[in-house]
Amino acid sequence: MTVNLPSVYDPKNVEEKWYKYWEENDLFRAKIDKSKKPFTIVIPPPNVTGNLHMGHALNNTLQDILIRFKRMQQIPTLWLPGTDHAGIATEAKVKEQLAQEGLSKYDLGREKFLERVWAWKEKYGGTIVNQLKKLGASCDWSRFRFTLDEGLSKAVREVFVSLYEKGLIYRGDYIINWCPTCKTTLSDIEVEYEEHQGKLYYIKYPFKNGKGFIQIATTRPETMLGDVAVAVNPGDERYKHLIGEKVILPIMEREIPIIADEYVDMEFGTGAVKITPGHDPNDFEIGLRHKLPVVKVMNEEGKMNENAGKYAGLDRYEARKLIVEELKAKDLLVKINDINHSIGHCYRCDTVVEPMVSKQWFVKMKPLAEPAIQVVKDGKVKFVPERFTKIYINWLENIHDWCISRQLWWGHRIPAWYCRDCNEMTVSREDLKECPKCKSKNLEQDPDVLDTWFSSALWPFSTLGWPEKTEDLEYFYPTSVLVTGYDIIFFWVARMIFSAMEFMKKEPFEYVVITGLVRDALGRKMSKSLGNGIDPLEVIEKYGADTLRFSLSTGNTPGNDMKFYWEKVEHSRNFANKIWNASRFVLMNLEGYVPEKIEIEKLSLKDRWILARLNNVIGEVTDFLEKFEIGIAASKIYDFFWSEFCDWYIEMAKIDLSGEKEEAKNITKGVLYTVLENSLKLLHPFMPFITEEIWQQLHHEGKSVMVSEWPKVNPAYNFDDIEKMEVLMEAIRGIRNIRAEMNVPPSKKAGILIKATQKDIEGLFRDNMDIIYFLAKVDKAEFIEKEVFPKKAMSTVVKGAEIYVPVEGLIDVDLEIERLRKEREELREELERAERKLGNENFVNKAPREVVEKERLKAEEYKDKISKIEKRLLLLQNE
Ligand SMILES: [Zn+2]
Ligand SMILES: [Zn+2]
Repeated sequence: MTVNLPSVYDPKNVEEKWYKYWEENDLFRAKIDKSKKPFTIVIPPPNVTGNLHMGHALNNTLQDILIRFKRMQQIPTLWLPGTDHAGIATEAKVKEQLAQEGLSKYDLGREKFLERVWAWKEKYGGTIVNQLKKLGASCDWSRFRFTLDEGLSKAVREVFVSLYEKGLIYRGDYIINWCPTCKTTLSDIEVEYEEHQGKLYYIKYPFKNGKGFIQIATTRPETMLGDVAVAVNPGDERYKHLIGEKVILPIMEREIPIIADEYVDMEFGTGAVKITPGHDPNDFEIGLRHKLPVVKVMNEEGKMNENAGKYAGLDRYEARKLIVEELKAKDLLVKINDINHSIGHCYRCDTVVEPMVSKQWFVKMKPLAEPAIQVVKDGKVKFVPERFTKIYINWLENIHDWCISRQLWWGHRIPAWYCRDCNEMTVSREDLKECPKCKSKNLEQDPDVLDTWFSSALWPFSTLGWPEKTEDLEYFYPTSVLVTGYDIIFFWVARMIFSAMEFMKKEPFEYVVITGLVRDALGRKMSKSLGNGIDPLEVIEKYGADTLRFSLSTGNTPGNDMKFYWEKVEHSRNFANKIWNASRFVLMNLEGYVPEKIEIEKLSLKDRWILARLNNVIGEVTDFLEKFEIGIAASKIYDFFWSEFCDWYIEMAKIDLSGEKEEAKNITKGVLYTVLENSLKLLHPFMPFITEEIWQQLHHEGKSVMVSEWPKVNPAYNFDDIEKMEVLMEAIRGIRNIRAEMNVPPSKKAGILIKATQKDIEGLFRDNMDIIYFLAKVDKAEFIEKEVFPKKAMSTVVKGAEIYVPVEGLIDVDLEIERLRKEREELREELERAERKLGNENFVNKAPREVVEKERLKAEEYKDKISKIEKRLLLLQNE
């Protein structure tokens, strides 16, 4: 076998090659083995409109690490991929396209528009999938699902109809959040609240009897056209006597009652509020309690409608202006105050949301939430970290009914049909051709589609074939882990859990591992406007996917945000280079070597040490990955590989490799092989490409490192004498420090004197002197008695010994003395200057505190340096 690793690692050549190889060899495909419990992850389906951003890169890297780890443990592993049809986002893309042609979706009509969307999806929908492949994601692409697939659509239909039949889905008038720009309903969590500087208008509503007014306060005067009552708190002494009276609604000149309701806040405004059930969620509830009519004064575009009298047709803000004018003219406007209040905005387009009453479909949440709370309380679904459990339970305990209809065309159309002849509404599993009641064929399907989350809520089981009883569903369900961001616990995680409990009677996953946000070096959110985002594809292009993956792994803890910046990427790139260079060295030395069984009794101390350390890191990486502590696992293998293996073992191995003893050479090769092979395996989940490239060059069995067996702790390597190696390393570090402190040129070898205070330590040094010679650049060593105190020598203390490095011969003592004296002189002057400054009251009292503090620190530093120089001078002058 000849080594074929170029001297510089180039990820570009390597990554594409191996991804293709894995796919061609069908290594991602999950295989059912009923004798083993599988490990399953369903991917959080990215939007078909998506482009890989740093959040995806993190989330999918973590999933791939877990999947590769479990696969190497020889567990049947399935990572099921797919994409989400993303109703609003995808329609927006196609609407943009149409707008460039001067068309709207209404110009095309539903059917033609949907054709356009499918065409768009065929053309661009695969982008994110290809980007995931670049990242190295080892998904089972043969099981790829799309939320609008035939199978998944069937699941959606089944769930809808069955919930409807159980009375858990209903259609009703309800106040919803309406986006006048997207022209659709938004669920509560799709509305983002922002603080705004607004105005509070105080308006007089005259009493019907002509004797004065009651004052109300509102931030949205245009909605007054839809007022149906004025409400006061029943406990409010100011208004008690007015309850039941009538007022005349200004402008509309409509008679409306004064009612009493506990909801009214006596402290807000005047304590009397206008009630507009058509356009305010709280008023809607009050309206229901008091059986008040609903008057809608706006249409779907946010314009005033026919119920707005002379303001019909005006934009809502235009109407506001004119209504305020009219009130002023009629002397009905008391005052306008500034007010800070939060206003709901559309999460997609930032338009101010308009609460509006309309006919919508809802899921009744209370009965569904209970089992979803219980399964988490019972610990059958566990959040990692645990603190998210409370947030989840709290949300479900206070949940409102879920509005599931959306006024879009792209999505799962609601399976309800209305008969134009007899008005019957029928919800059906099959598309309806005829009214079941009057047999009329004059039917119309509900035009709305379902909220995108309705289909993704079924993802863990619909993707496995439900409602069919498939082999996949039986074997891979429930899934093992869900890896997802905390921002979609409500949108998605909670809904998957209650859907699964209702339809599978079993939890959808055992663990929910929560990921944080990827922030910039300063901890800020990555955003377009700040321009501080890093494109993961650019990182892959420049440094390779392994580097990106390793950068995202290090420092990652479940549930916490992480920082990501180019220096971190470069650090990971250096690690990749380190792996490459070390592996090249080992491979070149292993040329022609065929691995043999390691003969334990022939191992030297350094071999026993590195094998024991290998054992240790295998245990640690395995444990931390099992606990989803991916960041810690990454740092463990990083530290082991870089410091213990590269900096120490490989350096020590050079002695044997260049020596004459064939047996020692062979044993060292065996250890190098073992440690490298196991390290590559431990690194593989984090850095799949570079590890494959190297492993393929190493003597191996099987097709790929990705299906090789995960390293196991070998009890035979748990040697009990490895702390001796630590003593040697300590001694070498000590001698190196002395050399550095004394400015000894690297080429100059040192002589050392060893004073062993423990007998066995003397033996240790005698047995391993070649290592000290080689690594500490020593060419003479002598053992001295306890009573001897060498002069002109620096010393270092290790466990059981003291080591002296005489300086004569190493450096020119006179010259060094002179140099040190000069340095001392300079430092003394500096110190004097600093002390003068600090003695000056003017400076101390008037300069900024941090400047004074800095000066103080400087003085300390000078003193410290001077005392060190004096110690050294004493040593050098000591005859
Ligand atoms: Zn919008
Ligand atoms: Zn009918």
